Amino acid sequence: GNTSHVAILARSLGVPAVVGLGGAAVALTDEDVVALDGTDGLLVVGPDQETIEKYNLLTRQQVKTHQKLEHHKDLPAETPDGHRVAMLANIELPVEVEEALARGAEGIGLLRTEYLFFQHHTIPTEDEQVKVFTEIVRRMKDRPVTFRTLDVGGDKVSDYLGAKREYNPFLGWRGIRFSLANLPLFKTQIKAICRAGAAGRVQLMFPMITGLQELRQAREILGEAVAELERDGVEYARDIPVGIMVETPSAVLAADLLADECDFFSIGTNDLIQYTLAMDRGNSRVSYLYKPLHPAVLRSIHQTVEAGHAAGIHVGLCGEMGSETRLAEVLLGLGLDEISTHGAALPKIKQVIRWTGMEEARRVRDEVMSARTADEADRWLAAYIAGRKQKREAEGKRAT
Ligand code: PEP
Ligand code: MG
Repeated sequence: GNTSHVAILARSLGVPAVVGLGGAAVALTDEDVVALDGTDGLLVVGPDQETIEKYNLLTRQQVKTHQKLEHHKDLPAETPDGHRVAMLANIELPVEVEEALARGAEGIGLLRTEYLFFQHHTIPTEDEQVKVFTEIVRRMKDRPVTFRTLDVGGDKVSDYLGAKREYNPFLGWRGIRFSLANLPLFKTQIKAICRAGAAGRVQLMFPMITGLQELRQAREILGEAVAELERDGVEYARDIPVGIMVETPSAVLAADLLADECDFFSIGTNDLIQYTLAMDRGNSRVSYLYKPLHPAVLRSIHQTVEAGHAAGIHVGLCGEMGSETRLAEVLLGLGLDEISTHGAALPKIKQVIRWTGMEEARRVRDEVMSARTADEADRWLAAYIAGRKQKREAEGKRAT
């Protein structure tokens, strides 16, 4: 699936990738010449000259588009009528910090800490984690870095951590469930994050929260970790903002309760779509069901934003949905305070926000939300985007 962790990692590292090809990829040999089209999800085996030229042209155009968007880097994602959205980056590995900064990220909205654990095949010590985390925080200077505590399980299994394959892994021992069952490991990670906070600004975020009880338990461990750091006279950041990923249907339905006891929400649409539409994000047979514009998904995001704002907390979105340029107006209209996505997608999303007024964005939101099916919403949005493109081209011509 497009939101499986392998696909996410490839996107983050800027590696063109196509998933779900089944046996087709295995049948290739090292001698085969192929064209890999990560945008349209195509692998063309033995492309003819015309196809090769088409892709060479597309590559040059893409480089040009990136260069054109360069000047956006230091501009805010602010609509013409003054509504501002924070644009942050998702990272998996420390090497991605440079890319995030180069694309103008205002911070790290999601740091998936599990990759540090997977790289070494042994549990990193507190000091080892502090070293890696501090380096990231320092390089981000005064920009916030949101550390998500370990989210193993699902498609991120690891024998050495004891999170083995399960019959129903995405409904199994995953995310906060794993951490709450491995308290020494959880507390060590929290301590490392608090200590890294001494070098800049950090935020703490818990994955896979399904209700208040888990949030309270996690906060209790945070309290113990802080008390121990205090007792030991170790330098650490006090009063770190604590947030949760809203990525389960139960978190959406209980969002008002959760909002009262945390500092921010970050909507994880990869899982939220998986769980809401009951489609395994790693299974290519059901990947056609991944529909960000499904009424249930849009209502879930809307409800979460409303609940968060009613409680006065910041609501962001850090799923892959945030990287789809075609959805930028919809997300703007839904009232998100922040979008966090892989670095390369930031400039395009920012551009759309910079040319869309809030009234327009709310109209787009209302239109897609009034559609009765995802396909209906998709069709409306495609027509709207085509019309907007025509309008902008006409305006551009008039201006020249
Ligand atoms: C999500 O679920 O949308 C998310 C951002 O987290 P992950 O992809 O790591 O599960
Ligand atoms: Mg998730």
